[in-house]
Amino acid sequence: MGVKIARRKSLLRASYCQLLYWIEAYGYKHVKIHASALKESPLPFEFVTFKLWCTMKYFEAEAQEGILDKKLQDGEIFLFRCHEGLECFTRCCRNLNMFLYPYDVLRLKNRLNISSEQFLDQYVDVVLRESNFFPDVLLRMANNEEKTCPFLNESGCTVYPDRPDTCRTFPLEQGILFQGSAGKATDVYFFKPPDFCLGQYELQEWTSESWAQDQEAVFYHKMTAKWAEVKALFHSDPWDREGPYGPKGKMAFMATYNLDNFCNFVFQSTFLKRYKVKSEVLKKIKTDEVALMKFGFAWVRFFVWGIKQPSFRLR
Ligand code: SF4
Ligand code: SF4
Repeated sequence: MGVKIARRKSLLRASYCQLLYWIEAYGYKHVKIHASALKESPLPFEFVTFKLWCTMKYFEAEAQEGILDKKLQDGEIFLFRCHEGLECFTRCCRNLNMFLYPYDVLRLKNRLNISSEQFLDQYVDVVLRESNFFPDVLLRMANNEEKTCPFLNESGCTVYPDRPDTCRTFPLEQGILFQGSAGKATDVYFFKPPDFCLGQYELQEWTSESWAQDQEAVFYHKMTAKWAEVKALFHSDPWDREGPYGPKGKMAFMATYNLDNFCNFVFQSTFLKRYKVKSEVLKKIKTDEVALMKFGFAWVRFFVWGIKQPSFRLR
């Protein structure tokens, strides 16, 4: 599994960039996407983000042809059922390039009863992809022959109630459509199970909505979309010479992925002397980790990009 990207930089100046992406999805087949004329598309979107099974990949611009026609329409039915009796049981939990999003990390570190710092040390690799200026977080597979997910045992998933968004979404792929680079993210879904997944031959009917509800993925999807809105800003390089791993980049990474350290930063440093946080927000982020995570997203928008936020201001 992996993502290969060919980019024609000279075309980036165009309002709708012409980009070619080759996406190796599932590690089994290549999908070639030719980003063609958005002008002819009735869709008012400036660019499209796709999360292909366990990757979130941004398509600046059009990427309409050949992709959006595979999108599940509202209420469209797909057939699927996953159960222990299938020969492929847990095969989808091996040798993955699984990207974790901040809310995934929050849920998993609480599940494992460890700090966010410990979780990041023990379970992830941080990687920088060519098309982005903010690092991604990859779940590190176990060091065994099959490179199994570290949370897999003989009976199945040991973190099932807190499994990541990507696991909940499978066999669908989640895409996120943006209206404008700072616009609101909207989910779209594609039914693209890999060939080995036998659940696709079962007869249980779902829609993307009923599947998300069944998998308790609705809130996960919301948090992933919120994160995607912030991540989308990092198509431009805000770091100057210090790069994404410089002091500023490290602070931004902490505010999004290392929630326990961000909590200490907010409440145990001079942060509250430097920032005036709205009292109702302050009260909430003291006890509510999700609210703190959203506050972290807002702080990154301000700290890195200078975008004013309603929840706080500099004193
Ligand atoms: S049916 Fe698909 S999702 Fe279920 S265990 Fe098999 S490969 Fe995984
Ligand atoms: S977290 Fe659970 S469901 Fe997801 S890949 Fe690992 S074992 Fe499978």
